[in-house]
Amino acid sequence: MVHTPAHSGIGGALTYESDTAHAAGTLVRVPLGSRELLGVVWDSAATPLSAAPDTQSSLISTNDPSHRSQAPATMQLRAIASVLQGVPPVSAHWRQLVQFAAHYYQRSAGEVALAALPSQLRDLSTEQWARRLKRKPKTVAAYEGASQTIPEPTDEQAQVLANIAAHKGPFLLFGNTGSGKTEVYLRAAQAVLEHNPQAQILVMVPEINLTPQLEERFRARFCPQWGAGCLVSMHSSLTPAQRLKNWLAAHSGEARIVLGTRMAVFASMPHLQLIVVDEEHDPSYKQQEGARYSARDLAVYRGQLEGAKVILGSATPSLESWHHSRPATDAEPAGRYLRLAMPSRVGQGALPLVRRVDMNRQPYKTVFSNHLLDAMRERVTRGEQILVLLNRRGYAPVLNCNDCGWKSECPHCSAYRVFHKLDRTLRCHHCGFTQPVPRACPSCGNLDISPLGRGTEQLEEHLAELLADVRRPDGEPIRIARIDADSTRLKGELERQLAEVHAGAVDVLVGTQMIAKGHDFRRVTLVAALNPDGALFSSDFRAPERLFSLLMQAAGRAGRDASMSLVSPCEMWVQSFHPLHPLFEALKQHDYPAFAEQQLKEREQATLPPFSFQALVRAEARSQEAAQGFLNAAREAGAALADELLVDLYPAVPMTIQRVANIERAQMLIECTSRKALQHFLAHWQADLHAMRSAHRQVIRWAVDVDPLAI
Ligand code: ADP
Ligand code: ZN
Ligand code: ZN
Repeated sequence: MVHTPAHSGIGGALTYESDTAHAAGTLVRVPLGSRELLGVVWDSAATPLSAAPDTQSSLISTNDPSHRSQAPATMQLRAIASVLQGVPPVSAHWRQLVQFAAHYYQRSAGEVALAALPSQLRDLSTEQWARRLKRKPKTVAAYEGASQTIPEPTDEQAQVLANIAAHKGPFLLFGNTGSGKTEVYLRAAQAVLEHNPQAQILVMVPEINLTPQLEERFRARFCPQWGAGCLVSMHSSLTPAQRLKNWLAAHSGEARIVLGTRMAVFASMPHLQLIVVDEEHDPSYKQQEGARYSARDLAVYRGQLEGAKVILGSATPSLESWHHSRPATDAEPAGRYLRLAMPSRVGQGALPLVRRVDMNRQPYKTVFSNHLLDAMRERVTRGEQILVLLNRRGYAPVLNCNDCGWKSECPHCSAYRVFHKLDRTLRCHHCGFTQPVPRACPSCGNLDISPLGRGTEQLEEHLAELLADVRRPDGEPIRIARIDADSTRLKGELERQLAEVHAGAVDVLVGTQMIAKGHDFRRVTLVAALNPDGALFSSDFRAPERLFSLLMQAAGRAGRDASMSLVSPCEMWVQSFHPLHPLFEALKQHDYPAFAEQQLKEREQATLPPFSFQALVRAEARSQEAAQGFLNAAREAGAALADELLVDLYPAVPMTIQRVANIERAQMLIECTSRKALQHFLAHWQADLHAMRSAHRQVIRWAVDVDPLAI
């Protein structure tokens, strides 16, 4: 049978013949139709399909949509074309991880396996591969960075490390930004490396580009002792050749540490002993297409599978992980994670003072309250840095005709196009449709069309005016920079801009959530969040959780350098129309546990995750009726089984952004208080969905998202 990535979902493996026996996990090339594809020998037992004793069944990964159907059992067996030379088989654990992920996220194992292997394994021809093998491995240049002095652990760190050594985990390391979590990872890794000369460690981070310092810190700690080749990275901006090289280094056991983004959870590491998931709450651990896996959740599974310890770290853990790490009470046993807390900040100033500005008391259309502006002026004059956070890029979210009410709607999406002043375009952030800004209203000809609302681009411009007269301590005019998805579109641009901020060349940095993550800007003493209210009343029940963690992260950017002598303490300013909202109260106290408790209470009352489990089915079609029709038919088909398993199937609804690039989108929520029952239901229901496809030809695609992050 063929696994295809599209929707064949639950197929088995293709069966091929071979004269010689190959161990399970062997990488092979096999013919399929007129092409040759990469395959993994999934199971080397003879299959009942053929009596030939040397028959093997292999799992074939293909992304060829022409092979969507499952091959009939009567198919003539073809022979394996060749074995991929020089690559040891992938381990049974690895195959089990792939199998589990495929099953759990309702995709085919072939698709998951294919995505997890470097593309060159499949793309290089047999000749190219032979040449690649002959190439002498370049001797890795010796590590030349400065070797660090390794700090003595603080009492809190020592306590945490002792717990990690003594218990099985998984561990939730709950520590403020600057509490020394990274130092704990480094020490835990060190202990593993020293204990076992083969042991490997997987360290996952949300986005490597945003935190180049972290990789450097790991290199500086381990390369002097274990060589420059002891650490490899794995993320999507590597070239195919680099990815292959790093994958092979991990697969052969030569690389002792793999540092990577979510895709690294599938790294082939035969001697894995420790997995670290830094910033475990970060939404980017969830893959948003294909197999929609959560790398954090798979890390926990993988740890258990391979007997590797797992450390999840965060200052604002996901409510799921917080709940799983609850201590025992009289009524209830402890959760299955062990929570380890590090409340203090090491060698750094105190957490910033949170100041809330009640925007109801400000003049209409105020952008910066006067108090905030004064505070910013004072600090910049003293040579301190400021971060201004606004979660909306572009100049203005809408262009509006003041006469007839025309707005810059996207003709292809149910969304407005954003006004970008720099290149004077209207750009749709959903489908990318871009046009020059019209001179006059396209509907009535009125010349008076103007931006509504405010994005980062406008904020940058506005601030330049407001702070035009302010000077830096050296008498120079101040420098304002902006970092968002627009300013960093070119490769290397983000790194360059971050380096500038680090070097102190920038006084005020305006940006989206990109500037809140992980950076170690040394001279930041004030962080301002201008308009965070949207998330307080969002229809997405996770919006407050995301906002709280964003603001805590942003606050953590301030006061990182304790050696700075400050005239006044660091501050985080929040401008809000709801300054007394419990979320801001908890933020003011830097009290994540209080926030989490309040949120979990609400979730429990509403039976939302983590007190229930969800899946979404999304369908796309030319019309909303067709998309919903498919989903509602699927609902009917699954109704009886759902009833039996106590699974709730909600009616189909349009997605929040209902139309993108002229495709109508609908979704249907599935909910159950038992993860097992939900899994059982989905596994059976898949067949119904596949079968219905032919009766719903208007449906362009559909996909199941298990444990979706955005509803
Ligand atoms: P986190 O990962 O929680 O933000 P880090 O591990 O980056 O925290 O630590 C914050 C800062 O404190 C870093 O500059 C780090 O070098 C320093 N630090 C961490 N642990 C110690 C320690 N035990 N002694 C001295 N300095 C430390
Ligand atoms: Zn008009
Ligand atoms: Zn559009």
